[in-house]
Amino acid sequence: MSKNKISGLFCIVVSLASLFALPEILSARPPYEHFTDFCRIGERVPGTSGHEKAGAYIVNKISNPQIDSFYTRGTWFYNIYKRFPGGNPRIGIAAHWDSDIDCPGANDGGSGVAVLLSLIDTLSLNSPPMGVDIIFFDGEDVDKAALLGSNHFASKCVDNYSFILVLDMIGDKDLQIFQEGHSVQFFPGLVDSIWRIGMDVAPIVFIPAIKYYIIDDHYSLIKYGIRAINIIDFDYPYWDSKDDTFDKCSEESLNIMYRFLLKIVYPEYIY
Ligand SMILES: [Zn+2]
Repeated sequence: MSKNKISGLFCIVVSLASLFALPEILSARPPYEHFTDFCRIGERVPGTSGHEKAGAYIVNKISNPQIDSFYTRGTWFYNIYKRFPGGNPRIGIAAHWDSDIDCPGANDGGSGVAVLLSLIDTLSLNSPPMGVDIIFFDGEDVDKAALLGSNHFASKCVDNYSFILVLDMIGDKDLQIFQEGHSVQFFPGLVDSIWRIGMDVAPIVFIPAIKYYIIDDHYSLIKYGIRAINIIDFDYPYWDSKDDTFDKCSEESLNIMYRFLLKIVYPEYIY
């Protein structure tokens, strides 16, 4: 057998091995299961028992979580993140886990947490080809958008991120994600690339046009020089109200967003 034939055989074995890895990717705990469990906790206003329970829920679902805690406005806040080692480019995928006062925050906060927990399950089973941080910011919704956690995280950040995607309100049954104005203003090429992936996964969900300018955690990251963009469906009539409950969201929307993130962390992934 010539050397070429041996290396050809090796390639076939390697590609078969990567195909066999797919069932492990798909065997992560589904986002909707995390979502329903997380929503049962109810409101997650910093300083309350709901906040404590929600933080414990996330921490208990992650092996070796990193905690970035800080005290301000008479309350403790906790950014929680999981680091997956790997080379460059290092990327971050983030969502906030707190909720606003008098709002259960199922879609606003909860949807992003659920999808990221499934992604952590997957990344734990299948090492990503790049360094990835999955970040749960606290204190986003304090005073509507004080962005306390992301500000704290960014002010101490020593890592060199290629980019950080900030997900928020991604579980609406009628999911439509327009490009966010500040993200396009600062990083048009990055937004374009990410939307191409989104349109490939779900062309009716990802719309390549700006609709809103949003103050979300990406905004504080950008202020500190981090390439961050916002991925949000802001057309949600229950936003910031007591009606932002789990029944307004759908399993399918969460699955779409999970598949979208798989395509980012495993560029070769076929679904
Ligand atoms: Zn939010």
